[in-house]
Amino acid sequence: MSTTLDSAVASAARTDAPPAILMDKVNKWYGAMHVLRDVSLSVAEGERVVVCGPSGSGKSTMIRCINRLEQHQEGRIIVDGMELTDDLRNLDAIRREVGMVFQSFNLFPHLTVLENCTLAPIWVRRMPKKDAEELAMEYLTRVKIPEQARKFPGQLSGGQQQRVAIARALCMKPKIMLFDEPTSALDPEMIKEVLDTMVMLADTGMTMICVTHEMGFARQVADRVVFMDRGEIVESGTPDQVFNDPKTDRLKTFLSQIL
Ligand code: ADP
Ligand code: MG
Repeated sequence: MSTTLDSAVASAARTDAPPAILMDKVNKWYGAMHVLRDVSLSVAEGERVVVCGPSGSGKSTMIRCINRLEQHQEGRIIVDGMELTDDLRNLDAIRREVGMVFQSFNLFPHLTVLENCTLAPIWVRRMPKKDAEELAMEYLTRVKIPEQARKFPGQLSGGQQQRVAIARALCMKPKIMLFDEPTSALDPEMIKEVLDTMVMLADTGMTMICVTHEMGFARQVADRVVFMDRGEIVESGTPDQVFNDPKTDRLKTFLSQIL
């Protein structure tokens, strides 16, 4: 066991709450390309982490490894006490606890909004249809689009579709939510409604990792901001530390490009 993991486990023991997510010296290659380099990150239950960094720095790969949409080759990833290993025994259990929202919504176009939300609860959680529909309506109300339940995704605006995607993920009652640039594909006027939904979720105490360059959002909700570049976590700290007092030239350059 490495020092990072030891100290993370020790601090978790002190607080009596194991981390929701523990990544310890994770490495990943696509062919010969080394895309995650000794990535170590411990996320406490209820913590909100924002991940930023240039395009191609490995942000998506990192969060996709957490629910094994991508596989890491070295290091350890432990989610809610369950380790992601090659035998995949824990994979179903982990995927149930980790909800994910993508840049491109990824809704099923041939299903209504309501059906998109009830599909997994009915087929994965074996929930009776009526209960699943009640639950879906509850979450569609929380994301402020209950009136869209009978429509198809193509009939909704981008912002509405992304809120459906969030509601759909929440219907599985995840303990952890991962967001991969959820507002990057949206027109400017729709970004706020999606960010407002994410703020609402943060206020419920949900453990969240959000890849986003929305500084306002990061400042409002992030406990910690992590800056990645070329597959490494280069800096991390409070939003104030990372945005107002960058230590490395790499982060300074990145901030000068996005601010
Ligand atoms: P980011 O989300 O920060 O833009 P990614 O995690 O998507 O970065 O990509 C990190 C690196 O891995 C990039 O160089 C990208 O081109 C490469 N990459 C991503 N997905 C694949 C894949 N499926 N096969 C090969 N290379 C990939
Ligand atoms: Mg990405």
